[in-house]
Amino acid sequence: MPIKVLDPKVVSRIAAGEVVERPASVVKELVENSLDADSTQISVEVRGGGVGLIRVMDNGAGIPSGEVELAFDRYATSKIGELADLEGIESLGFRGEALPSIAAVAQVDIVTCTAGESVGTHLSLKDGVVVNRGSQGRSPGTTITVNNLFRRVPARLKFLKSPATENSHIANVVSQYALAFPEVKFTLLIDGKAVLRTAGSGRLMDSVIEVYGLEIAQNMVEVDSQNRGWESGTVVSPPRVTGMAGSPAVSRSSRSYLSFFVNRRWVSSRMLAWAVEEAYHGLLMQGRHPVAIISISLPPEQVDVNIHPAKTEIKFQNEHIVFGAVQRATRQALIELAPVSKIEEVATAYVSPPSAPRLWTSAGGGDRPATSPSPTYPTPVVSLPLLRVLGQLASDYIVAEGPDGLYLIDQHAAHERVLYEKIKQQRSGQKVEVQGLLEPVTFEVNPKQDAVLKSHYEDLAQFGFSIEPFGDRTYLVRTVPALLHNKDWVGMVRELLDSLSGGDWVESIAVSIACHSAVRAGQSLTDDEMRELLRQLEQVTMPHTCPHGRPTMIHLSSGQLKREFGRS
Ligand code: ADP
Ligand code: MG
Repeated sequence: MPIKVLDPKVVSRIAAGEVVERPASVVKELVENSLDADSTQISVEVRGGGVGLIRVMDNGAGIPSGEVELAFDRYATSKIGELADLEGIESLGFRGEALPSIAAVAQVDIVTCTAGESVGTHLSLKDGVVVNRGSQGRSPGTTITVNNLFRRVPARLKFLKSPATENSHIANVVSQYALAFPEVKFTLLIDGKAVLRTAGSGRLMDSVIEVYGLEIAQNMVEVDSQNRGWESGTVVSPPRVTGMAGSPAVSRSSRSYLSFFVNRRWVSSRMLAWAVEEAYHGLLMQGRHPVAIISISLPPEQVDVNIHPAKTEIKFQNEHIVFGAVQRATRQALIELAPVSKIEEVATAYVSPPSAPRLWTSAGGGDRPATSPSPTYPTPVVSLPLLRVLGQLASDYIVAEGPDGLYLIDQHAAHERVLYEKIKQQRSGQKVEVQGLLEPVTFEVNPKQDAVLKSHYEDLAQFGFSIEPFGDRTYLVRTVPALLHNKDWVGMVRELLDSLSGGDWVESIAVSIACHSAVRAGQSLTDDEMRELLRQLEQVTMPHTCPHGRPTMIHLSSGQLKREFGRS
């Protein structure tokens, strides 16, 4: 579409406002323009925290010579034409505001050339006014250079942080788009130093390695909602959710490692962050946040991007459907980590001395044939290597040896994890093992517990508790989960009733039963019992954390041990 100034009717409907808040906003707008122009290579160069220089160079469609001036007019865009187009925006830009806003607060030079032109166009603007125009040779694409940003807006300049902080915002913008567009080759130079360079291979994994490093990348698992069938009966089909999610082992203390892209637009959304964190329920410790890159694709008319000038906030037509889809796809990815062949695979890992701890191993069972139609990421598996029991420490921990070093396993936390997964499995298969009591037992509850219990007989029954009212705040119990036989199940139920006011009841019951039936800390275990516990732990899907999210074990690799003892 040629660049045209939008009709005032359309202008009045767009969420206009200041888009150039700081150097990183300039970088964001320019990179978005390059992406909208279908570039496959984008290089960004900045100096002096972006205030000195920002240059974005791409190999995209370019701007035809006759339209270059127009691109700097307010509300001039080639991306939408009429009011109706606002309902289904597929491009990253659409307001025709970025270039004029940038030109108003900086000195801008543009060199651009389209594929059909033999020579490119050069234009210089100062204070938004064209001061120079000419022809210049360049291959198809666009280079925009922004100098002296905010020099004439001291109020803005004053509010900027240190160059290091502005640089980190800029690096974040480029990193996020590198994650959103793995098929595009990004380069970022800060003060002459290359800080990011992606291959443009089209594989998200490659971008993750560049952006977050190998250690995090090795601990990521692929998320794809199409890997499972959706529940039938939903009125609106849920969006496709793809991306990668980090193992609980690489959690972070802030949410800054959570990235969301909606139809490839980088967005911030508390709702989406919440959906992902819900998926990690029971896997992370309090105050820890996951690493995840989540892309949501849905028909553009189901999302409104026109609510904030920077376009980073969006509104979904069906928020709860998106929430559910993101949560399920992420959870699914975390749960389906363990393939059936886990044990043999781990055994192989044992024979060939691994160079790194193989807590996450490839689910594919070796390399795929070279003819593999689509690129496959190694699917991490949270399986444990085979462990050999050495003994028990302080009646609390099992000391074991693995293919790569020493493992100290918290017996209570480990057993909790084993039982928790067993309980959940039994419940979902409706095969809960129940223990009938010789004599029904009565127990009394306080008014608050009474109120909670009244609305949750059903949930408790699903886990094997048969509880019925027996007069004033008294209840009669006929059966309990077999796991709790001879355990303090009355205490457990009381605790459960006290701790719950809302939230996920079923989850809490499972956690609570696991906690109360697991071996205690301080309990001595025989060698056989320890071996059996480890054997069971090898079978679970999430052996590294207990259902409360605490770690079940500490691993000291052979390398770490050598280092500790000062041997090279
Ligand atoms: P918007 O992106 O909202 O359309 P901008 O002010 O960012 O508004 O850009 C105005 C127009 O200039 C775009 O619609 C596009 O046609 C053109 N343009 C800007 N940057 C580029 C680029 N890197 N490559 C090709 N065309 C561009
Ligand atoms: Mg734009």
